[in-house]
Amino acid sequence: MTINKPFENYVTTLKEAAEKLALTDDLLKHFTEPQHIFETKLTFSRDDGTEETANAYRVQHNNARGPFKGGVRFHPDADLEEVKSLASLMSLKCAVVNIPYGGAKGGVQIDPKTLSEAELERVSRAYMRAANEANIFGIQKDIPAPDVNTTPQIMAWMLDEYETITDRSEPGIITGKPLEVGGLLGRSYATSRGGIHALEQLQPVLFAGKVPSDITIAIQGFGNAGSEFAKTMHERGYRIVAVSDSRGGAHCKHMCDVHHLEKVKRETGALATGSADISIITNEELLQLDVDVLVLAALDGAIHASNAKEIKARVILELANGPVTPEADAILATAGAIIVPDILANAGGVTASYFEWIQNRTGDVWKERTVNERLEEAMKDATQTVYERAEREQCTLRQAAFLIGMERILDAIKVRGR
Ligand code: NAD
Repeated sequence: MTINKPFENYVTTLKEAAEKLALTDDLLKHFTEPQHIFETKLTFSRDDGTEETANAYRVQHNNARGPFKGGVRFHPDADLEEVKSLASLMSLKCAVVNIPYGGAKGGVQIDPKTLSEAELERVSRAYMRAANEANIFGIQKDIPAPDVNTTPQIMAWMLDEYETITDRSEPGIITGKPLEVGGLLGRSYATSRGGIHALEQLQPVLFAGKVPSDITIAIQGFGNAGSEFAKTMHERGYRIVAVSDSRGGAHCKHMCDVHHLEKVKRETGALATGSADISIITNEELLQLDVDVLVLAALDGAIHASNAKEIKARVILELANGPVTPEADAILATAGAIIVPDILANAGGVTASYFEWIQNRTGDVWKERTVNERLEEAMKDATQTVYERAEREQCTLRQAAFLIGMERILDAIKVRGR
């Protein structure tokens, strides 16, 4: 089994960029050492009255460009190493897409699948309570959001806990909320849309002369990001040929009917039950399909040194954070694959969170069309800037995105005199 070390992976990529920027060790520390780490043990009661504890974290990486911003993940693997790497990537991501935020991330080390709805609510409220006691969150300080296994409903519970404790209405303290409590129209599909805009902007380079129905796509991960991506691309006429989730995948003979697969998953819990047109495949098999685009929308470390040589996709879109390790990155680059990196490809989510925060602070309510137009503009501008930098430096899109993100953060650090 390959052991993934997400923070080490981040530092490896960072150091390559730092060398190009000729960073001193002192300046490098702004990227390798988070400004603040909050660590605690949450206690919550199970439905049978017994008490349980779970490790919980909030890592505030860098706020030179604006308040800390980042999701909260509920997952058994959400340890400090993982949360640190995700917080660091958030700082770079916000800088790449040029929104005035720093980076942070939260995590609770639990498996939500083992919790009842009431237990999940108690954990969510306990997290917000503990963070509030340590003065972690604030509308101008640190703004959490959803991530893996955390939903708009969980954001609503956390908001309610915060507002109850502080005795004031402050919806902008948290984003990714349901519409009823200040959420943003279009937020649920903003991450996947952002990835699609990045692909569209790169279309002349990646798919010259091809129409959507010529372009085959396999998607690992069928949660929020992966399923929304699949549905939109299916509607636009692209050929989705395989999708998977943690239980395995479906490989369709010609083209997947994504809405049908979603229905099957809802009814049976699995994406595919096997039929003449749909075969059941493993996640490893999905990764190795000969497709134009492989979309990684599950967890980090999906492609690593041991399986990178088997990857045949020409383009890899990282909707997940850190799905390709640095060793795999090098192997894929040598093989000529183009990777649209996480800090660009999935930045649509935090960009929409920024819109939600503006809306909450101004009291305005944006039309869905306005959200989508502004998202498209932000994503296409960021993609073009990253692409041009990669061309100029003759480097990968990931290296270019790191260079841009680091430079923008360094500019803010310098002008502040830190
Ligand atoms: P989610 O919990 O809704 O979905 C995750 C999906 O991955 C599920 O379908 C799950 O079954 C699947 N999965 C888990 N392990 C797998 C495995 N080994 N093989 C195949 N599939 C597996 O989470 P999400 O919100 O869609 O996030 C997915 C990724 O995208 C994460 O890395 C997250 O950090 C990143 N991301 C999400 C957003 C967002 O707005 N949702 C924004 C930015 C980045």
